[in-house]
Amino acid sequence: MAELQLRDVRKSFGSFEVIKGVSMDIRAGEFMVFVGPSGCGKSTLLRLISGLEEITSGTLAFDGEIVNRLAPSRRGIAMVFQSYALYPHMTVFDNMAFGMQLAGKDKVQCRNRVEAAAEMLQLTPYLKRLPRQLSGGQRQRVAIGRAIVRDPKVFLFDEPLSNLDAALRVATRLEIAKLHRSMHGTTMIYVTHDQVEAMTLADRICVLRDGLVKQVGTPLELYESPNSIFVAGFIGSPK
Ligand code: ADP
Ligand code: MG
Repeated sequence: MAELQLRDVRKSFGSFEVIKGVSMDIRAGEFMVFVGPSGCGKSTLLRLISGLEEITSGTLAFDGEIVNRLAPSRRGIAMVFQSYALYPHMTVFDNMAFGMQLAGKDKVQCRNRVEAAAEMLQLTPYLKRLPRQLSGGQRQRVAIGRAIVRDPKVFLFDEPLSNLDAALRVATRLEIAKLHRSMHGTTMIYVTHDQVEAMTLADRICVLRDGLVKQVGTPLELYESPNSIFVAGFIGSPK
């Protein structure tokens, strides 16, 4: 069974319909990338999946259970945004442990999980630093680490690399790919407007335009048999 099922999902803000009926399945363990031009509804779709926004109509199911009204904290999801939003007055360790502490996890468990995530993300030497003492790439890794320690079933990334310079973008992208491989079975849903990111990270790509799905397929399928000029232009054109 698909881990996430979207059926005719719609979202309006006032009279403005932003998501216009999206139906698709996302499989457990899959790396699914949503691409599309700015304003097409990518962030909104992620916010609907995470529960930060309520869908206007349609159904969203996780493992067959409809979650339309389920609180974000109960969806087993962690989200990484493009702006890292770390707590400036807390150390890297505390930034990563904070959510678990709130959830009432014991100290030893918090420490173990933070240390494991730090190891995975090469942040071990920086655990005692404050965010302002880190580079942009390191800060983004802390934001990813904060998500990892929560042990989510599904990771959502909203353009996590867009505030990084070109070299760091490549390095962090490779790290995210490695992370997916090392967290067997963790589903990743990743939003970008960058074709190269989409082509290199995705198991499957979903191309969005104006709140509608234009095509879903593997990078190779979209590259070799785009179903429209829009998809061809979007996937094939150099940045
Ligand atoms: P993307 O992430 O693909 O750039 P968004 O999902 O952020 O696009 O936005 C899609 C459209 O929905 C845009 O036209 C945006 O202005 C509009 N929109 C997003 N959030 C809101 C909101 N809270 N209220 C009104 N309009 C919104
Ligand atoms: Mg966006």
